Amino acid sequence: MANKDDAAAAAAAATETTREEESPTEYKTHLKSHALFKYILNTSVYPREAPCMKELRRITEKHPWGVIATTPDEVQFIGMLLKLMNAKKTMEIGVFTGYSLLATALALPDDGQILALDINRQNYSLGLPVIQKAGVAHKIDFREGPAMPVLDQLVSKEENKGTFDFVFVDADKENYIHYHERILQLVRVGGVVAYDNTLWCGSVAPSPEDEPLPPEALVYTETMINLNRALAADPRIELSQLSIADGLTLCRRLY
Ligand code: SAM
Ligand code: CA
Repeated sequence: MANKDDAAAAAAAATETTREEESPTEYKTHLKSHALFKYILNTSVYPREAPCMKELRRITEKHPWGVIATTPDEVQFIGMLLKLMNAKKTMEIGVFTGYSLLATALALPDDGQILALDINRQNYSLGLPVIQKAGVAHKIDFREGPAMPVLDQLVSKEENKGTFDFVFVDADKENYIHYHERILQLVRVGGVVAYDNTLWCGSVAPSPEDEPLPPEALVYTETMINLNRALAADPRIELSQLSIADGLTLCRRLY
């Protein structure tokens, strides 16, 4: 992987770019070089970034766990996908400060609805003022607590089934596979479920040349390997594994 100096030189050489200070998520990529990731951010992402997204990104970067936020190129992609789908009703499992949530809220129409689930309201409260200022807070129904009971409650009522256009899953990795069974009932046929971090630092397929990852980085490697295998074998969905950020798997419900 190229070093930081290479990345800085590449960014300086690019024209019409927006240079930003280094962010903790800037190394969350599977691109071959960091310079290339910086190039994408500086050329195509930061110059098009809404001021409110930049403000919330800056707030999130200062958080001690800032690295767990979704990357700017990934939220740009999610926003585009939601618009392409004409999505109106979505769910997000794992909100943190609300960075991907704000991108979602901006992409939905004014009467769009997002059910946002997280066990921690304190982190969400950091992003909420920015979300309010952006004029999209009315689209968000934030619920504090574990996602599973909420999903169970939703699937227990027939009227909720097949009503969600899009679900972004970015929370407790060991439960992704259990969320999947519930979400597939809640998302409409043709709707999309997106699972984040499915390449788990590249550890799902280590190569001999890779620098060994510290044991704590491998904690969800088996979980993700099992999830990826299960999704690939699931006939109810069409699947696309993207290598953006730390891996994003799109599942389109077929029936
Ligand atoms: N999507 C966010 C963003 O773009 O910044 C990042 C989410 S962060 C990777 C994961 C979040 O999942 C944390 O905020 C954590 O509190 C939340 N979480 C963990 N376990 C959860 C659970 N069982 N139910 C709901 N949220 C959970
Ligand atoms: Ca993530």
